[in-house]
Formats: sequence, structure tokens, C-alpha cells
Amino acid sequence: MPGPEDFERLPEDAAQLREYYLSLVQQLNRYAQAYYVHDEPLVPDSEYDRLYQKLELLEQQHPELIVAESPTQRVGGAPLSEFSQITHRFPLLSIADIFSAAELTDFNRRLSEGLSGQVEYCAEPKLDGLAVSLIYENGSLVQAATRGDGRVGEDVTLNVRTIKAIPLKLQGNFPSLLDVRGEVFMPRDGFKAWNERARENGNKVFANPRNAAAGSLRQLDSRITAKRPLTFNAYYIGYAQGAELPDTQYGRLQYLKSLGIPVNPLVEVVRGEQGLASYYESMGKRRPGLNYDIDGVVLKVNSIAAQEELGFTARVPRWAVAYKFPPEEEITRLIQVEFQVGRTGAVTPVARLEPVYVGGVTVSNATLHNEDEIKRLNVMNGDYVVVRRAGDVIPQISAVVKERRDGTQTEVSFPTVCPECGSAIERVEGEAVARCSGGLFCPAQLRQSILHFVSRDAMDLEGFGDRIVEELVQSGKVHSVADLYILTESDLASLLIDPGSDSRKPRLLGVVTARKLRASIEKSKRVPLNRFIYALGIREVGQATALTLARRYSSLTELEQATAGELMTLDDIGQSVSAHIVDFFKEPHNLDIISRLTARPEELIFSAGIELIPIAEEFAAAVKPLEGKTYVLTGTLASLTRSQAKNLLQRLGATVAGSVSKKTDAVVAGEAAGSKLAKAQELNIPILSEDDLLALFKQHGLSVQ
Ligand code: NAD
Repeated sequence: MPGPEDFERLPEDAAQLREYYLSLVQQLNRYAQAYYVHDEPLVPDSEYDRLYQKLELLEQQHPELIVAESPTQRVGGAPLSEFSQITHRFPLLSIADIFSAAELTDFNRRLSEGLSGQVEYCAEPKLDGLAVSLIYENGSLVQAATRGDGRVGEDVTLNVRTIKAIPLKLQGNFPSLLDVRGEVFMPRDGFKAWNERARENGNKVFANPRNAAAGSLRQLDSRITAKRPLTFNAYYIGYAQGAELPDTQYGRLQYLKSLGIPVNPLVEVVRGEQGLASYYESMGKRRPGLNYDIDGVVLKVNSIAAQEELGFTARVPRWAVAYKFPPEEEITRLIQVEFQVGRTGAVTPVARLEPVYVGGVTVSNATLHNEDEIKRLNVMNGDYVVVRRAGDVIPQISAVVKERRDGTQTEVSFPTVCPECGSAIERVEGEAVARCSGGLFCPAQLRQSILHFVSRDAMDLEGFGDRIVEELVQSGKVHSVADLYILTESDLASLLIDPGSDSRKPRLLGVVTARKLRASIEKSKRVPLNRFIYALGIREVGQATALTLARRYSSLTELEQATAGELMTLDDIGQSVSAHIVDFFKEPHNLDIISRLTARPEELIFSAGIELIPIAEEFAAAVKPLEGKTYVLTGTLASLTRSQAKNLLQRLGATVAGSVSKKTDAVVAGEAAGSKLAKAQELNIPILSEDDLLALFKQHGLSVQ
């Protein structure tokens, strides 16, 4: 039977059109079954939504085709028979999706006409998890059920009881009977940590937080659910007895909050199309900075009386729509897996992709991490893959669309020799990373170690970018970082730089640029010890560790002589880092480079003569420079998450509090900061911008990854 994509245009023949229609229904139902019932989607939502829209359009044009099993006639998927089933007293419906400003205009126009006048809406983020109904009797949680097919769901009471955000007992003025609807979801940090651990232990990795939430809640053993980082936000009251409910959606959400049930803090009341559009836009901007996935906004008529007037179709309420954001997951073709060699020789497989627009950017590469990840995904060259880019996270391949394999795909074989230098690739037993054994003989490792050495947080050699470093290595002018210091202006001026586009020929670097580069080399000859240690590129020694070392050892010679046992007594230095440090200083090649960098010119004729500045005494004493200070974070930060910022502040000794009081020493205000900022202004508490915060971290030697 032909699939929908076998037809370019709709077939004109009635029988063929019917066949086409049924194949579309069948395909969507297969996807829906995998998604709703087994929590294992076969394709990303964007693909499902495209086909669904196609089906809707076809049904509008040819209503005579509609069959009862069409997904447009039903909600969700059948409940799993392993769970006992619960018939909802009032069905849990779906919501009509819209994707464009034009559809938003239509929605608002339809409602304004129906309700005569400007409509007030309750605008809410659309959380990407799964819907549940919670029943409270006399304030106690007695039952929890999934949506299932909307009419009959699964009994997940025991599992829901393990979710800490869900109160087992209500507080305040609760009704005698209450049906609350809301979303169970997994926050991004919990999802990431869970997957990292699962990957290490060889357990199942979830494709995205929604699947993680659905798969975790629908466990037959509630002890498993209890271990998963799930949470909950309520968004609707199904019914209530024995209490007077507020007469707006927004009022009802506030009422739920007063009962101790969590409600999303980004819910707002807005008016008219303009209000809806700006809410959508502002949530779109906040989306990357949130700690949970949202796939759109849900726009609901605020007045309950108006909602009742408008009523429901068989599948959706007429008083609400879900306005979807551009997708964070898309399908594209993986052209070829290539292997990149990093500074420490780590060989990383990188997927070259047919460019695809996802999560707000065009993606043409994605990391595949390591050999185990290739095996886990079972990915082949030429496969169609699901690319996920949520927030500002590096694009990942989350799944392979196996059903699109056509026999042309080829096995990805992990190389046994380095693609750059031909040395053997070694993988230490028990480690996920494979490494090229070529050391600095390998041009890739040399290039990367130079790029690290010259980077801003290390020696800060301004102007030394990828192309220049590549050319320095390729032309044989530089064999180690020490060689940078013997480059003359004319060496640099005569470099032939490939501008990287086919249409232009390589050009000479030129005298002016060469002079600037030479000046930045000179400038780097006085550098704080911690930055120099970091620049050496010792494995696992990041900026924070370099700072710890520079605080403890006032010179490089002292550090060179430190034993592993001694190093391990320092903060944050464990067995593996200390072994890397000792090994590094045992290597004659490294000692040679260090002496060429730091020996005084009278001792060594070609020495760079770099002067290392020991960390000031008082700075060394202040191990925790923000000890005793209380900071509060508010708003969205662009270059780091809130938990990263919190972590770094805590590392400097600060206490990070959730609310502003007279005891607060400073408030860090990101974008769209709200009431906490206002309170800080009122109390005259110093306010730091994101730039101030970054400068503070930098001043204390911490970097934001
Ligand atoms: P929906 O996700 O479009 O909208 C309804 C759901 O939104 C509710 O059930 C509720 O769980 C949730 N929701 C979140 N925040 C809410 C709020 N503030 N107020 C009300 N509800 C809120 O509808 P659906 O019927 O659950 O499923 C359609 C979605 O599932 C589509 O996005 C589709 O892409 C996806 N899907 C994907 C596949 C696949 O193969 N990838 C298959 C089937 C469905």
C-alpha cells in the first residue's frame, strides 16, 4: 500500500484518494500508538504534526472520507491493560493546535464575535509532559489517572503519590470533592542528570523529557517512579463539590495554589489578539532559559461562564487553543559520521547532517559523543535521524528513524588509527573515550593544544584564530606552544591563510595583522600563575583547579615537585586529576616546553621569558571570597542557567537565597526579572547585571562553560 509521501499531489481518482486517506490515518495511528501507549515515539512531534495537519485539511475538503478511527476523531491512545482502568467522570480532552499568527487572528476573531467584544484570556505555558487527573476527597488524594483515550485512563495513584510536588493532603478552604487536572513533567536538569547516569550504567536513555515523564509515571512498580525526578503543575479544575469556585480560569488557578497545589508561575491574564501575541512572543524568548520543556502556550477564555457558553467538540474545548512554538526536534539525514581529534587526543564522532532548522538555528553538525553512543543509537551513515536542540544546548541526535531505512545505509566503523596522524587509537578499559596515541606528534592534538593555550581564559593571545593556528601547524612553523614566542613579524606576515570559501584564493596574512599578533604575544609574557597552569592543558585541570593549584603553590617549580598524595589533600582534587598532574610533570617533553616558556633569557637563549605572577597573599587567604554574603538570583540569564550561577556563587562561599530580604547582600537580575528586582530596589540592595556577575566570576578565576 502506498504511503502518503508517495503522492506528490492529491490523487484525483476517488478510490485512490480514499486509499491515500486511509494510509495517512493508519500511519498517524501507528505513530500515536507508539507515542501514547508505549512512550516510544517513532518520529518527532514536528513530523507527526505536519501529517496531522495534512489529514485535517483533507478531511475538511472531503468530509465524506472521515472514518471513526481517524486521529482527528479521538483523543490520545488506549490505556495499557497492565494498569487498572479508571473511567473519568468528565473526559480529559485534547486541545486544538495552531501554528501561525494567522491562525491566532482567526481564533481571536471567532471568539470575539461569539462573545461580542474584546476577550480576556488566561494565557499559560504549555508544559510538555503528560496529563493526569487527581481526585481529592475531603482534602486527601485518593486517585490519580492518566488521560488515556480521554474517557478511560490508567490508575497511577501509587506512582503519583511518590511525586513530592503533589500534596497528599490539601490545605486551606478545600472542597469536599475535587478533580484537578495538570501536567506531570520532568525538569530539564533532572532529565539531563538521569540520562547521564543511565548512559554511564548502560541503562535506557530517554529521547526527551516528555518521554521520560510518561515512561516514568507509567511504571508498574512505584518504587521506580519514586526515583525519577518528576514534578507537577495544575492547569484546570475538572469539577468540584462543596465549595464556591472563582468565576475565572485565572482565579481558579490562584485558588488551587491556596490549597497547596503547584501552579505554573508564568500564567497571566491578557486581552485581545495583541495580548495573546505578546504573551506568545515573550514565552518564546523565555523558553530556552526555563528548566522545563514547553512546546507552546495554551490560551484559554478566562471567564468560566463564557467557557460554558462555548462548550466542547468531541475532542477539544472551543474556548482554548495551544499555540505551538517552532519545534525543538526535527528529522534530517545524516550524511556521514566523521571523527575529530581533540586536545587530549580524545576521538569524537561528529555527525555531518543535511542542514535542518531546529530550536531556532540551522544545525549541520551534531556530536555523537563516543563509540558507545553510536552503538546505543545503532546509527548508520545515510540514516534519517531525529535532531534535538532544546534551549542553548548543543544539538544532539536523540534517535534514528529506522523505518526510513532503504538499504543504502552503511555501517559506521570506529577508526582504529587516528584520521589525522595514523597513530593507533587506544581505549582504556572502563573508559568511554578512545584516544589517539600520537600526542603532540598528531597535528590535530597540536592544533587543539595551541588553540587552548592562546584562548581568552588561558594566555589570551588575541587574534590567533582557527585558521592562523591551522596554518602555523601545517606550514611547520610551530611544533609546540613554545614556538609561538619565537615567531617573528615576517614569519607571521608570510602565512598563507585559506579564507575557507571556494571562490577565494588563499591570501597572505599581511604586515598589519602580523604586527598585532606579535604585540599580543609580547603582552602575554606577564601572566598570573593560575592562567599559565590552565593554559598548559593538563588533563582534567580546568580553570577552578588551576586556581586551587596556584593558591597552594606559589611557583611552578613547587607544583612540579608535588606528589599525588599531597595534591589530593586539596579541595576538589581527586585521584584521577592528581595522577594527570603528576604524569604531566614527569614527561620530559612537557618540562622542556615549560622551560622554553619560562626560563630567563640569560639561562636559555631561545626562551620566551614568561613571567609568572604568583597569586596575591590576601587573595590566597580568601579561599571563599563571598563567605557570609547572601545573593538572590532573579530573571533569565542568557549565558548560563540559574543552577550554574547558583553553583558558582556557592563555590565562592556565598549563600544563594530564594527571596529578597534586608539580609540580602546583592540581587542578580537577568532578563524579565520581576518582583524580586522590585523588592531589591525598594530595599536599596545592590543589583548586579549578568555582565557584572560574569565579571565577578572571572575576577575569582571561575569560568562559565
Ligand atoms: P496537545 O499536547 O496538543 O495538547 C493537550 C495537552 O496539553 C493536555 O492533555 C495537557 O497534557 C497539555 N497541557 C500542557 N499545559 C497545559 C495547560 N496549561 N493547559 C491545558 N493543557 C495543557 O494534545 P495531545 O492530544 O496530548 O497530543 C498532541 C501532541 O502529541 C502533539 O504535539 C503531537 O505532536 C504529539 N504526538 C506526537 C506523536 C509522535 O509520534 N511524535 C504522536 C502522537 C502525538
